[in-house]
Amino acid sequence: MQVPPFSLSQQISDLGTDLEEAVLQVLRSGQYIGGAAVKAFEDAFSTCVETSHAVGCNSGTDALILGLRALDIGPGDEVITCSFSFFATAEAISAVGATPVFVDVDPTTYLIDLDQIEAAITPTTKALMPVHLFGRPVDMTRLMAIAKAHHLNVVEDCAQATGARWNGQPVGSFGDVGCFSFFPTKNLGAAGDGGAATTNDAGIAQTMRELAVHGMPERYLHTALGYNSRLDAMQAAVLNVKLPRLTGWVERRAEIAARYREQLADLPGLCLPSTELGHSWNQFVVRINSARDDFRQILQDRGVSTIIYYPIPIHSQPAYAHLGQAEGSLPITEQLCQQVLSLPIFPELSDQQQQTVIATLQKLLRVQAPTQLPRNGNQGRMVA
Ligand SMILES: *Cc1c(COP(=O)(O)O)cnc(C)c1O
Repeated sequence: MQVPPFSLSQQISDLGTDLEEAVLQVLRSGQYIGGAAVKAFEDAFSTCVETSHAVGCNSGTDALILGLRALDIGPGDEVITCSFSFFATAEAISAVGATPVFVDVDPTTYLIDLDQIEAAITPTTKALMPVHLFGRPVDMTRLMAIAKAHHLNVVEDCAQATGARWNGQPVGSFGDVGCFSFFPTKNLGAAGDGGAATTNDAGIAQTMRELAVHGMPERYLHTALGYNSRLDAMQAAVLNVKLPRLTGWVERRAEIAARYREQLADLPGLCLPSTELGHSWNQFVVRINSARDDFRQILQDRGVSTIIYYPIPIHSQPAYAHLGQAEGSLPITEQLCQQVLSLPIFPELSDQQQQTVIATLQKLLRVQAPTQLPRNGNQGRMVA
């Protein structure tokens, strides 16, 4: 049996004619930019995130850029974030002319290390950008307290965490702005690119809305240099059909994660992710303590496809060479990039497919364990 890392077509066929009808309706309406589908989605999404506003835009990256711009963050400003994330987190900070400042991640949660934030704050720090990586919520109670004490803005990168909650409250509703991606493999995926920025501040919402349409508060009056970053009407129609299913999909992800955690416990050489209430499990990321890439190939040869999120830390990317951040300066991030492996997790993964993944891992690790795998002696140290 072949097990893919994700499957997008399955979800589309499960949704059947609802989705096709919604898309056809937009196609036949002639209303391709803005209109009822976009408005309906923004309303439904702000209800879902429990904020007073949601502004649809072209992508999660653009949502981050719009949020930063609306908070007037730009050249000369620093934004503290983590290097263990998708590149767009830092790229958005740079895109507005500000400078990303990276702190290391926590070895148990893989999220920004809250104990290291304060030491990174300088007089030019303007904002914190926590990333709810892999769908796991950052401790927003503590993060917001740090932000408040230092008068910093907070832009949440919720791209991987649609449906996640901290303390029962949806991510994206804590900071000044919450930024979501509807890239097809995210928890709520469009049939193409899409994003949204959420906020409880009417002024910030209005600014983001204007920036997304060429800084244009009224037709052909441009008060700022903005972007062409609208949420496509066709994508909004797709999202309107999918949004009511989000809770069920996140529950199914959590069920798959629970089964992995139960069945893969105690395998030598394998560190499982710790769990957290409100985790939305966009990814189930294990750590292989040595020879991760070889191990991944062996899994692939046996039909189990995995993905490495992420093989290179952001601060080590050629595009950020100019920051001059030394190798070894973010040791947990750098170690994770060498060890992480994402197992297949998506709502449509069948029990049988998951059993194949589990059985394959059990067989390989039980056989190879004593001689090959645990080499660096810290196996278990990062397990919660
Ligand atoms: C996907 C992602 C983004 C960017 O979202 P796009 O919609 O692809 O632009 C930003 N941050 C993180 C952490 C992501 O995973």
